[in-house]
Parts: sequence; C-alpha cells; structure tokens
Amino acid sequence: MTNSQNETTKDMADRYMFQTYSRLPVTLVRGDGCRVWDEDGREYLDFISGIAVCALGHSSPLVTGVLEEQSRKLIHVSNLFYTRPQAELSQLLVENSFADRVFFCNSGAEANEAAIKLARRYANEKYENQRHVIISMENSFHGRTMATLSATGQKKIQAGYDPLLQGFKFVPFNDIDRLDEAMDESVCAVIMEPLQGEGGIVCPQSGFLKDVRRLCAERHALLIFDEVQVGMGRTGRLFCHEHYGVTPDIMTLAKALGNGLPVGAMLSTEDISRSFGPGSHATTFGGTPLVTAVSLAVLKSLIHDGWIEHCRDVGEYFQGGLQDLRRKYGFVKDVRGLGLILGMELDRPGAPVVAECLEEGFLINCVQDKVLRFIPPLIISKKEIDLLLDTLDRVLNNLN
Ligand SMILES: *Cc1c(COP(=O)(O)O)cnc(C)c1O
Repeated sequence: MTNSQNETTKDMADRYMFQTYSRLPVTLVRGDGCRVWDEDGREYLDFISGIAVCALGHSSPLVTGVLEEQSRKLIHVSNLFYTRPQAELSQLLVENSFADRVFFCNSGAEANEAAIKLARRYANEKYENQRHVIISMENSFHGRTMATLSATGQKKIQAGYDPLLQGFKFVPFNDIDRLDEAMDESVCAVIMEPLQGEGGIVCPQSGFLKDVRRLCAERHALLIFDEVQVGMGRTGRLFCHEHYGVTPDIMTLAKALGNGLPVGAMLSTEDISRSFGPGSHATTFGGTPLVTAVSLAVLKSLIHDGWIEHCRDVGEYFQGGLQDLRRKYGFVKDVRGLGLILGMELDRPGAPVVAECLEEGFLINCVQDKVLRFIPPLIISKKEIDLLLDTLDRVLNNLN
C-alpha cells in the first residue's frame, strides 16, 4: 500500500514513528481465524496471535457482531455512570474465579499498577505503614509503566530509567528458600506470573506455588498473580493458577480479555477490595461498554463453547510434536509450557528461525533471545499445528 508520495507503509512508519519496536518487515492488512494476510496478499499462519491476545482468532464473527451492535448503542460514557456490559462482565469473572470484585482498566501494565497500589494501600491501612516492600521474581515481566517496570525482574527493561520506584526486591523463580529469606516484616505482597511468559516460558516447579501461598499467608503478605499473558484459557484452564491448586489474593488480566480490544482487569477478594474506596483509584476509559461487551462475549465463548478443553487437547498434541523435534535436533535444549503457551529453547539465537518461518508463511516469535514462543489463537486446529511442525522441521534441519 502506498500513499500519494509513493512511500511504503514501512518507510512511513520508520520515518515518522518512535523507533521503539524492532518490527518484522511485513505490513498486515487482514485476518481470518488463525490466518493473516499482508498487503501483497501473502498468507501467514499466526502462532503469535498479537502476543496471546486474539484467542478466538482474527475477524471472529462473534467479536465483530458484538462490536458492531454495541458501537451503535453506546461506546463510552465514563465511570461516572453505570453501564450494563461492565456489570455483567464483572459478575461472570467473579463467578468463575476466586475473586469477589473487579476493577477495569486498559492494559496489563495498568492492571498491575492497580494491584501494586491496592497492595500498598491495604498494608498501609492494616499495618500503619510498616509494610510496603513488594517481592517480585527474577526474569519476570509486569509492564512498562514506572511502577510495573520497577516490579519487572529484567535489567534490560529497567536500564536508563533511574530512579526506579522504591520498595521492590527480587528473588529467583522456583527458589522457595530465597523467598523465605526475603519475606521479612517490611513485605506487603509478592507479585508473580504463575508461569513466566516474556521470561522464556518458565513453568513453576512442583509445589513451588503452594509454598509461595503458604509463606504469604504465614507472613501476612498478599499474593498477586499476574495472569495477563497466561489467563483467559491460554494454559488449558481459565486461569493458570487453577492447574496448581493455589489461589492468589489479587489477580491481573489483560491481553486475551478483549480479543484485541484494549482492556485490563484487576480482581481481588472482598476484604482487600475495601482498601480501594471511592476516589482511591480511577481511569477514564476503564471498562467502557464497548470493550466490556466484547470481553463478556469472549469470556462466555471460552467457558461455554469448549475452547479451553480444545486448548488443552491441541496444546498437548503440539507439545508432543515439539518434543519430537527436540529429540531430533541436538541444538534444541528444551521444550516446555502448558496448553497453548509453548517454548522451544535453542542453544543459539532464535531470530534466524523466526525469519525463516516468516518466509515460509508462519508467524512465530522469540523471547529471551533463544526461546521460540508459540502462542497461537486457542481455536487453532491440529492440521494447522501440523503445518507449522513440518515447516519447523525443515527450518531446523537447515540450521544443522
Ligand atoms: C504483556 C504483559 C504485561 C503488560 O501488558 P501491557 O498490556 O503490554 O501493558 C504484564 N504482565 C505480563 C505477564 C504480560 O505478559
């Protein structure tokens, strides 16, 4: 697609936009299910789904239908008023989780920002300002705002932004002894992803989350699960923590919650929610009728149309195929994950594999330099997974 000066989209974006992203050299114009097309009509099978966002795929008739209908009725009125879709979405989230109440916002970072504020305020009211430290995990990712990047356990994301927000401490993921040592009287909360996404698809070891839960209860610290990436069915359960028989005090959601519309949510138990009274926290756009009508339809579909079971089923199949490739190629160090968030760790950078797959018509990406990440729409079929596995086999074979 060219404008009047015959500049390509890439030329224009590279010239006029902040260069905060290293984009793949493709301009996408259309999507349908698990497929997207570029401006030249080339088709790609999407194993990124907008970073675990489009769980029901692209151009989902369900999403488009609700979007059209609600946009004709009411798009936005602010939280000075009640709106029905917001109330119904919060009810459905509460009925299907540990939580009693929901706060809506617009992104994952904002949901975590709300969780951090709530944990601090709760401790402030309950323990008279004695507790304010939040413990986070090394290699975690919680967002890019000042508070959430301060909570993110990756130096490269924090670089250049000093002074960071005070009161965050980091311990290694899966190391209960280090957490035990760090949990002194200054600690008000532990924030963690139950399964790390951006950190390289790192699963909790057996018993780790239960031990974290126990420590938090013993030391009067709140447990915050960041399910922004792994929530909403991605792991084969509605929420990832359900796999481990552990419930948090606060949970954050975003990414797949709106299937592409920007929406986040922070959920907590009743007792904790009371620390956020009128005027204590707010956002103009939080939970507009438009995005919550879509989210409501998405959540209903996940729960009632069998997509979570489907995700478990095809996820296992997919992981089996990736394990076969691991056995075949010595430079594949590990295959891991849950449901449809899968990682393949190489002994070398993954970027060339991502580029080759793109050439072959497959969108995948890479985290932590060496971990290929597979997060397709939850509606992906075994046939489509086979197409990727065959291509990956060829691409990896060429690396030999
Ligand atoms: C993506 C992500 C975030 C940040 O969400 P944004 O919507 O980009 O602000 C936070 N936590 C986790 C675990 C994520 O994967």
